[in-house]
Amino acid sequence: MDNAYDVVVVGGGPAGFSGALALARSLRSVLVVDAGEPRNAPAAHLHNYLGFDGRPPADLLAAGRVELAAYGVPVVAGSVTSARPQGDGFTVELGDGTTVSARRLLLATGLVDELPDVPGLPERWGRDVLHCPYCHGYEVRGRAIGVLATGPMVAHQAQLFRQLSPHVTVFLHDSPEPGPEQRLELGARGIAMVEGRVSGLEVVGDRLTGVRLASGTVVPVEALVVAPRFVGGSPLLDSLGLPAVPVEMNGQPFGDAVPADPGGATAVPGVWVAGNVTDLGAQLIGAAAAGLKAGAMINADLVAADTRAALAVLASMRAWHQHDHTRMFDADFWEERYRAPGAIWSGQPNAVLAAEVGDLVPGTALDVGSGEGGDALWLAERGWQVTGVDFAAAALARAAAQAETAGLTERIEWVHADVTAWTPPPRRFDLVSAHFLHMPHERLRPLFGRLADAVAPGGTLLLVGHHPRDRETTMPRPDLPVFFTAEEVAATLDPGQWAIEIVEARPRPAVDPEGRGVTIHDAVLRARRRDSVRSDNRQHVA
Ligand SMILES: Cc1cc2nc3c(=O)[nH]c(=O)nc-3n(C[C@H](O)[C@H](O)[C@H](O)COP(=O)(O)OP(=O)(O)OC[C@H]3O[C@@H](n4cnc5c(N)ncnc54)[C@H](O)[C@@H]3O)c2cc1C
Repeated sequence: MDNAYDVVVVGGGPAGFSGALALARSLRSVLVVDAGEPRNAPAAHLHNYLGFDGRPPADLLAAGRVELAAYGVPVVAGSVTSARPQGDGFTVELGDGTTVSARRLLLATGLVDELPDVPGLPERWGRDVLHCPYCHGYEVRGRAIGVLATGPMVAHQAQLFRQLSPHVTVFLHDSPEPGPEQRLELGARGIAMVEGRVSGLEVVGDRLTGVRLASGTVVPVEALVVAPRFVGGSPLLDSLGLPAVPVEMNGQPFGDAVPADPGGATAVPGVWVAGNVTDLGAQLIGAAAAGLKAGAMINADLVAADTRAALAVLASMRAWHQHDHTRMFDADFWEERYRAPGAIWSGQPNAVLAAEVGDLVPGTALDVGSGEGGDALWLAERGWQVTGVDFAAAALARAAAQAETAGLTERIEWVHADVTAWTPPPRRFDLVSAHFLHMPHERLRPLFGRLADAVAPGGTLLLVGHHPRDRETTMPRPDLPVFFTAEEVAATLDPGQWAIEIVEARPRPAVDPEGRGVTIHDAVLRARRRDSVRSDNRQHVA
């Protein structure tokens, strides 16, 4: 389990799994958290789901898990207790205190069946105490079926089960007397009515044999149909400001559900619902279909958000190239940029860092020019103890806030310093990493020298910059002597002390400010300080 996903799906029933599948197949990172109590679990078999009719309910979900695993979707056993908006997404809290972040949420938490208060009834639920003619009516066809009247749906239920058996009896229990029209309808179909309160069930050898009335009379039945109250709300939904509201069916109270549009979008931007939580009458295949639809809607919403973000990058690139670049070496310039609203960087680690550091055994790392903390957080998540340095206090504040959200405060120290006038402790770090630090060479060379000195024996120096050759592309670069090649930096390292591992101009696809594809190059230098003392740090992770 990572701690950031495109989508967290809460609930691993047919709705949640289908949504997760659609999202995974759209290359979205998805986490499913499931408390493992699907609504139909008490039933021995499921019905009316093509391909699975007559199979145990667990078979459908087991097949779903296998399919999700093939797409790398983790399904975590647990309960989501709350979720709250955070930035452009949500922070989701699990019952064990773990938090994960998600850009979007799909809540497929099902509903709770509140059963009538009759002793012994909950124990038989889903077996011979039933509610749904399509789920298990066929299995009791032709038998003696009781229908417990607890509300206005009783006549409707009795008529549906009458289609399956001529032996249907309505137990009026504590419901209001049926009106003359209802009595006539029930009588016309040969449905019997028994007055008196039901006080319990008769069970012989784990089979329902009758309904006991308060008078002591026992009426033989082999199945009892009830009308639970369907409750789609939960504290999790409340935590998001999404209370379930009363829903009617045929003008009669049906239960509580969370309102949503036909694609599952709720009143809270970024939150979708699918399945019984919003559609109390949805059966398995309908819940699955709704999950698929909501997954597709979420993907479309993320596509739109990604496009908006890409356009914003182009706009900021254009704005960037209109800046007076001679100011870009001043802290004030960056301070202003980081104080303006909106993230400047993607929040993702630099690609070269992810490619070149992923296999190092974590130790201490110095991230120079740490900006909004994308690299530092990525390193800390992988177990590095990180020092992030930047001369813009506003950048450090943004980075520290991200670290706090990710629960990484203990793993990162933020240092407010101008690295051109700051000397890191010598031989201190197992990794010193600087990406896209550009400044006049007379300042850059001594800085790189100090950064190299800070690398511990056996440690790694990773320096990455825009290659001077990029000036020949349509990617605008300031016309200043601030770029360097990896070869130029490698030449400054003493071969007696350094093993040069990578020195190259690494191509990278990019988009220029006009939205045109362009291949640019990164100058990449990775060098290891020779020394046997810490050579163990070079072990690669298996
Ligand atoms: C006894 C019975 C038998 C049924 N038989 C059939 C049948 O044969 N055919 C048919 O089509 N329909 C049947 N149904 C209806 C069927 O169960 C529902 O249509 C279906 O389960 C709805 O799917 P869902 O994904 O919305 O919810 P569910 O399948 O109920 O899945 C919801 C999941 O979310 C989890 N969850 C809830 N809250 C949280 C949380 N906060 N954090 C993490 N996880 C959470 C739950 O534990 C559960 O695993 C039956 C219903 C009952 C009661």
